[in-house]
Amino acid sequence: MAPDARAIARDVSGPPLVLVPVGVGAAYARSGEVQSCYLVRAGDRAVALDLGAGSLNRLQDQIAPEDIDALVISHLHPDHCADLMALRVYMTWGPGRGRTLRVLGPPGLRERAAAFAGSDGWDALRFEDLPAGGGEHDLGGGLVLRHREVPHLPPTHALRLDLGGAALCYGADCAEGPELPELAAGCDVLVCECSFGAEEVPEGVPHLNGAQAGELARRAGAGRLLLTHCFPELDRDAALAAARAAFGGPVDWARQGEPVVAG
Ligand SMILES: [Zn+2]
Repeated sequence: MAPDARAIARDVSGPPLVLVPVGVGAAYARSGEVQSCYLVRAGDRAVALDLGAGSLNRLQDQIAPEDIDALVISHLHPDHCADLMALRVYMTWGPGRGRTLRVLGPPGLRERAAAFAGSDGWDALRFEDLPAGGGEHDLGGGLVLRHREVPHLPPTHALRLDLGGAALCYGADCAEGPELPELAAGCDVLVCECSFGAEEVPEGVPHLNGAQAGELARRAGAGRLLLTHCFPELDRDAALAAARAAFGGPVDWARQGEPVVAG
C-alpha cells in the first residue's frame, strides 16, 4: 500500500526526496485526472514542478501553496502552466496574500499568463527565467535543481532535483534525444511522459511512447521509471509492457496522490 503523503510531509527526518504526483493528465486529461503537477518533498523544503489545469486544487490536498519554496515550470504549454492564473488570485487576494512565491520558468512566462488573465496581481509571484540550454540552482537546505533543454516546444526544460545522495528527474514533455538521459543519469526515479502509450509517435511530433520512455530510462541508468502524461483513450497496460521491455527495470504509472520515495 502506498504511504500516506501527509504523514511523510510531517516527517522531515524521513527519506530525503519524496515525489507526490499531483496531476498526471496529458494535453487533455482522463476524467478524474488533472494536468501536470508534481510536488517534491525534500527534507524541510517543498518544490512543485509544473502547474497544469486543475492541479492547484489537488496541490492543496498536500500543502498550502504559499508554503512551497519554489514552483518550477518546464515550458509554456498550458497543460503545464495554466493554473498560474488561479495561483495569482490565490496568492494576491486569497489565502496566500502577503506572501511571495518563487517561480522559475521559461522567459515570457509571466507575460504569457498576464496576456490571458490581466496584468495586475502578479507581484506575489517572483518570476525568474531558466537560462537557455540548462543550468543549476541552489534551492537551499542542500537541495539542488538542475535543468536541461529537451526536444519539445523551445524552450522546454527537463528538471532534476538532488538532495543527500538521492535524485529524481522529471522529463517534462520531450522527444527522443541524448538530453534527458544525460540529465537523468543515475537518478533514483525518472518521471517520463508517455503521451502516445504503445502507439507510434507521429512523425515530427515531439512526444514519446512507452518503449521510447523505457529506452531513455535504460540509457539514463535510472533506478525506477514512472510513466505519466498519457492520452486518455490509449491502452495503458500495453504502454507499461512496452516500457518494461525496453527498460528492464521497475516501471509503473505515476498515480495522483500516491507518493514515491527516491533514494
Ligand atoms: Zn508540451
